[in-house]
Amino acid sequence: MVTGLSRVALAGNPNAGKTSIFNWLTGSSQKVGNYPGVTVERHTGRLELPSGSEVEIYDTPGTYSLSARSAEEQIASQAIVGLSPLPAPDLVVVVVDATQLLRNLYLTLQVVETGTPIVVALTMVDLLERSGQTIDVGHLESTLGIPVVPVSGLTGGGIDQLKKAAGEALSRATESKDGPLWPPSPELEADVSAVADKLPEEWTRDTSSRRRALALWALLSIDEEDELVGIAPELRESVDSRRQLAAVEGRDIEAEIISARYAWIDLHCSPALSTPDEPRTSLTGRLDSLLLHPVSGFALFLLTMGLVFQSLFSWADPAIGLVESAFNGLSSGVIAVMPEGILRDFITEGLIAGVGGVVVFLPQILLLFFFIGLMEDSGYMARVAFLMDRLMKSIGLHGRAFVPMLSGFACAVPAILATRTMERRRDRMITMMVVPLMSCSARLPVYTLLIAALYDTESKVLGFLPVQSLLMVAMYLFSTIIALVAAAILGKTVFKGPQVPLILELPPYRMPQLRSVIRMMMSRAGVFLREAGGVILVCTVVLWGLLSFPKQPTLDTDYSAMRIQIEREVMGDELQSELLRIDNLEAGEIFRKSYGARLGQSIEPVIEPLGFDWKIGIGLIGAFAAREVFVSTMGIVYGVSDEVDEGSESLRERIRNEKWADGRTVYTPLVGLSLMVFIALACQCMSTLAAVYRETNSWRWPVFMFVYMTSLAWIGSLIIYQGGRWIGFD
Ligand code: GDP
Ligand code: MG
Repeated sequence: MVTGLSRVALAGNPNAGKTSIFNWLTGSSQKVGNYPGVTVERHTGRLELPSGSEVEIYDTPGTYSLSARSAEEQIASQAIVGLSPLPAPDLVVVVVDATQLLRNLYLTLQVVETGTPIVVALTMVDLLERSGQTIDVGHLESTLGIPVVPVSGLTGGGIDQLKKAAGEALSRATESKDGPLWPPSPELEADVSAVADKLPEEWTRDTSSRRRALALWALLSIDEEDELVGIAPELRESVDSRRQLAAVEGRDIEAEIISARYAWIDLHCSPALSTPDEPRTSLTGRLDSLLLHPVSGFALFLLTMGLVFQSLFSWADPAIGLVESAFNGLSSGVIAVMPEGILRDFITEGLIAGVGGVVVFLPQILLLFFFIGLMEDSGYMARVAFLMDRLMKSIGLHGRAFVPMLSGFACAVPAILATRTMERRRDRMITMMVVPLMSCSARLPVYTLLIAALYDTESKVLGFLPVQSLLMVAMYLFSTIIALVAAAILGKTVFKGPQVPLILELPPYRMPQLRSVIRMMMSRAGVFLREAGGVILVCTVVLWGLLSFPKQPTLDTDYSAMRIQIEREVMGDELQSELLRIDNLEAGEIFRKSYGARLGQSIEPVIEPLGFDWKIGIGLIGAFAAREVFVSTMGIVYGVSDEVDEGSESLRERIRNEKWADGRTVYTPLVGLSLMVFIALACQCMSTLAAVYRETNSWRWPVFMFVYMTSLAWIGSLIIYQGGRWIGFD
């Protein structure tokens, strides 16, 4: 957006109050768009300063530092630092959460180093004071050398002073200090000047402070894993060689810069905070002694998680049912008014089913993000991370990975969207890659069908444990253990990285603001609908096409002749059911002649070592749309009826009696187990892949996920089936 107006960027840590301040500053004048080339939301607005001049202001994604990793953090640093393609701001307003002052000042310090005029908007002062602390604003101003204005994101108090300070900073508009406030070591100084020489001209705009700041930024941000675009190769090489040089000398540039900044902040800025007289008597202190307690803390934590889990599993159910019946109703409506034909089938079975398949995720997504919003906003999420950190760290995961992992039991899609609460890309990636291994609720109907069809209700282990329930529990345990092991392995291989110390200031508890929780929930749901929705819809339509064409294949059986014969021989009610049976048989054969089914037949050699025939192959292909589709696809394959579910007796019967060409039974209990293991491990969910695509902004990771999970499934089933046969099962 190029205008003649001065540009003001609003920056800050996630949850610091940026959006609240942005809303107070711009009122209703704001516009929502996207940053160029990426699907990251961009809010812009106009603002009139007390001097009468108008400026353009924009909100940037929340970030803890300018050392970009994810697409969003990269946008934030581009917007704040002014790297192409985004224009440089004339002023940066850094929103600083007073209750987490030291952590927030890290970003502030980085912005100060760039030399861009800056004003700090200090939020959450009310909370700080309620916990018995005070903050010396004058001290902060003089040590940092920049204006600091206390504001309230709740009441809008201090906003006028903020506008005034912004106006003054803009009119001064002289680039400040030369270099960082903290003294770099001579070795680091050498790294900085070497890299500074390789910076492109349009970045540095010829000021030495920017040059040095950007050299520091490059030293922290550029590495082989960064996925930054538009970095000149010379710059990359220069950073690389400095890092290697440092390693030879036994130095770690990244750690050196980060600790030097924090040391400076700690030394010079912590005196601005007064310590409370009686810290333990404050409400936060008392709550923490309960919620962080090794026993009561864990008990309450499990209770909270139980509630979240329960809500995803059962409270979402009526809403899911409602969505499903609404879309079924819509289909029936279309069927009633449209003439039969391909167009009608496309609309009902492709389009409406596809949109329905997207919307059906909304209840769980909204609920999960409602709880996450409450936990983030109240300050409880930081405690969860604290409680779980040691446990999760032992398998290489972040403390915050716990909530997404648990949500994975309900559905991987909202769980993948929830990995955002972690700051580091590495933590997000590992969690995303293993969440789909958790046994989601869509696997349940498949397990139910197979267990009911193949194992006896009466059989017991040790005389009293029912085999059926035991198997179900075993499937859940199996998936959890595999997910944890996979996380540990991925963390040591694909996503190798140093353990960065977790900076954990526990913010005081605060009453969650329903409005902001709901806003967050809605914006996450919106992102899902826009980004993942399109992919899911397209996949549904493609799958529909595969399974419904060709429309009129040559059939092996003459069903019309069969009907005529039946009509001659049978009478009354029996005639109706016989005709229905023939309809189903015909539909089954048409389906078996479809492109999708032929694909199923062509993969038979690959799945035969697992004990599966080509009909199961079709079921597995159909299940790619969504796992629960396996059940209805099997219904169509076997020509049982249009409306089958896992409880359908006829489908179970057909499964039990299914034979190979040579007369052997297809579904032995061993095949059932092998199939369940396959369903547990395979990545048969295009919505999950779409969600991963959206979160990583690249096809690389969904492809990686699909390949590794499917290989795992194939190997797992092979071991079960061949191993089982080897020890004597059939
Ligand atoms: P963002 O993530 O930086 O955009 O932060 P938001 O503007 O969404 O604010 C996060 C939460 O902090 C919301 O619940 C706000 O209502 C709340 N909040 C913002 N400013 C203040 C403040 O000055 N005092 C208090 N008590 N809460 C605030
Ligand atoms: Mg915000």
